[in-house]
Amino acid sequence: MHKPFIENMRKDMVENQLRQRGITDDRVLDAMGDVPRHLFVTEDLRDEAYMDGPLPIGFGQTISQPYIVAYMTEVLKVEQHHSVLEVGTGCGYQAAILSTLARNIVSLERIKELAESAQRRLQELGYTNVDVINTNGWHGYEKKAPYDRIIVTAGAKKISQALLDQLSNNGIMIIPVGKIMFSQTLRIISKDSNGNVTKQTSLPVRFVRLVNK
Ligand code: SAH
Repeated sequence: MHKPFIENMRKDMVENQLRQRGITDDRVLDAMGDVPRHLFVTEDLRDEAYMDGPLPIGFGQTISQPYIVAYMTEVLKVEQHHSVLEVGTGCGYQAAILSTLARNIVSLERIKELAESAQRRLQELGYTNVDVINTNGWHGYEKKAPYDRIIVTAGAKKISQALLDQLSNNGIMIIPVGKIMFSQTLRIISKDSNGNVTKQTSLPVRFVRLVNK
């Protein structure tokens, strides 16, 4: 595929799937316009990379729909000095978007092959402030806690207390929660400066399952 063709597809994605549906944060729109999404999927799926949906990445997992990536990123209000935790690296696309917006990203992935290939891909593409760690993210990653922002990109049955504990004061966490497979609602959890927690409910979403053991 030709470079200008890919760049046009990416521009169209930003205009039609993101801006027109209400994503307004220019930093998020710029990140989505910069990160080469087609390089996060296998070669045979490259010409579908900018379509309005998730795609398979192997091991029964997916790369998330562009709109959901943008929406969750916008909700987090990530700032340049932030330390961000992601649970569910997958191919590393969301981590790359966050990498352009924050100081450092810790991203947890339980499937070894995905963790390794995502770390390699992120390095090769120059997203050098992302640490991918092959571990069960249900328990978070205490070693680098607390985090200013936490994003969970797999569907949890409930909110993980360990993750909540690792969220700093003035922090925001976004997590898809639902008892049924492939059916969750996004929950937005904020801590104020005293550590008091408020929870809001947002969009319905369809993530693969967050394994909790
Ligand atoms: N963030 C990805 C989408 C990830 S799909 C993107 O940018 O497109 C969800 C990922 O979460 C899968 O790779 C799955 O293996 C991983 N996952 C599920 N449960 C997990 C857990 N408990 N800890 C870490 N990773 C988990």
